[in-house]
Amino acid sequence: MGTKILIPTALRQYAGGHDVVEVSAGDVAKALAELTSLYPALKKNLFAENGKLRSFINVYKGEENIKNLNQLETTIEEGDELLIVPSIAGGAPADLEVLHELSNEEIQRYSRHLLVPEFGMEGQKKLKQASVLMIGAGGLGSPLGMYLAAAGVGKLGIVEYDTVDYSNLQRQLLYKTADVGRSKAEAARDTIKSINPFVEVEIHQVPLTSLNALDILKHYDVVADGTDNFPTRYLVNDACVMLGKPNVYGSIFRFEGQVSVFHLNDDTACYRCLYPEPPPPGLVPSCAQSGVLGVLPGIIGSLQAIEVIKIITGIGEPLANRLITFDALKMKFRELKLKKDPECLLCSEHPAITELIDYEQFCGMPAHDRIEKKPLAKVSTDPNEITVHELKSRFDRGEKPFILDVRNPTETQICCLEETTLIPLNELPARLHELDAQLEIIALCRSGARSDNAAEFLRKNGFKNVKNLVGGILAWSKEIDPTMPTY
Ligand SMILES: [Zn+2]
Repeated sequence: MGTKILIPTALRQYAGGHDVVEVSAGDVAKALAELTSLYPALKKNLFAENGKLRSFINVYKGEENIKNLNQLETTIEEGDELLIVPSIAGGAPADLEVLHELSNEEIQRYSRHLLVPEFGMEGQKKLKQASVLMIGAGGLGSPLGMYLAAAGVGKLGIVEYDTVDYSNLQRQLLYKTADVGRSKAEAARDTIKSINPFVEVEIHQVPLTSLNALDILKHYDVVADGTDNFPTRYLVNDACVMLGKPNVYGSIFRFEGQVSVFHLNDDTACYRCLYPEPPPPGLVPSCAQSGVLGVLPGIIGSLQAIEVIKIITGIGEPLANRLITFDALKMKFRELKLKKDPECLLCSEHPAITELIDYEQFCGMPAHDRIEKKPLAKVSTDPNEITVHELKSRFDRGEKPFILDVRNPTETQICCLEETTLIPLNELPARLHELDAQLEIIALCRSGARSDNAAEFLRKNGFKNVKNLVGGILAWSKEIDPTMPTY
């Protein structure tokens, strides 16, 4: 065991993203030499041209500043910890030459930041130098991306491969009506660039998977998780812990939201410390199934943006080891304490999970929540499926098959097939006795995913003849009855 050097957030980008680097050296000078030979980019941040420590950098051995010990000659022993503490307030302008300078145009643009004493030039330059990766550019990603861009974050990455839908416009302010049908990543880039052309935008129009996550995430200082599904949420968490990146988390459900900062450093909880396992499939519906108040992601995404800015600039108390919950109906914020779980499978000292896994399998659900874009077949070759065209032909022949609608009552108020039986998916286990196991059942939902789960569940419970309506009521509207409203 050697000496641990603790790297502050602002310098981690020069130390391969690490918050701790272990070296073995007899004194501080040798330890820092070893550190800077491992990570040469750190050198000009720590040392001036004359080889002296920069005046805005303090080095502590344990709780003592080496200035009060034997300066760089201070001896260190195995097990000692060295802390690098850059000053936040003060420091002559010359000390800041390592940070990018601001143009006069930028100074004017960000002047309301520059006037805030805790923020100032140094905070603004740190923002300019920083990169943030947004996972998802939807309800949470909209305020997050727009505020971070306006605030002057240097580089924004966007992982998003969806297209803009009419139903997004109620809350996803990155998009305008004319953007419907466009690639979200490209439309988001245009909006962000129109807010602040100084921001570099990098788009990743791919689903985030175990194969590409580490490669994409490693290039950014901070990750902001605005995803809408559990497989991606666990994937982002695990990748952040493995790469040593802070993960600014937000989630929303109808009128409620949550925010936290996971894995700010090795002493703070990760998402798995809070939720070691995902809920069983079907228990927690998505926004597409259960709806969400349009303003809510505006609040939660803005809180995420504040946390991202605090982490980058080093001001304030980050929301690590704490979870904020927000209830819009009661207009109540609550703060819950979180603790790093010493037994966490991922972030404990001896983790069981050391590489990314199959998250769709782990969560028992797909990592997306929308209809497949592939054209629907007119006739199904799978005996467990029926297409809308086949169902229409049966109606035309005068047949009246038993149709089980597993959507929620609010959804059936929007559109419905005639003569269906409604049992929402989450009530199905308790209401199984209402169905005849000998009868043919055609299961139906919005896009065909929940009804597929329902059909599978019924088959497991002894129902012999259950078919899933492929593409759900959306397919019915698209292929059979275009007058039917969709959502
Ligand atoms: Zn953990």
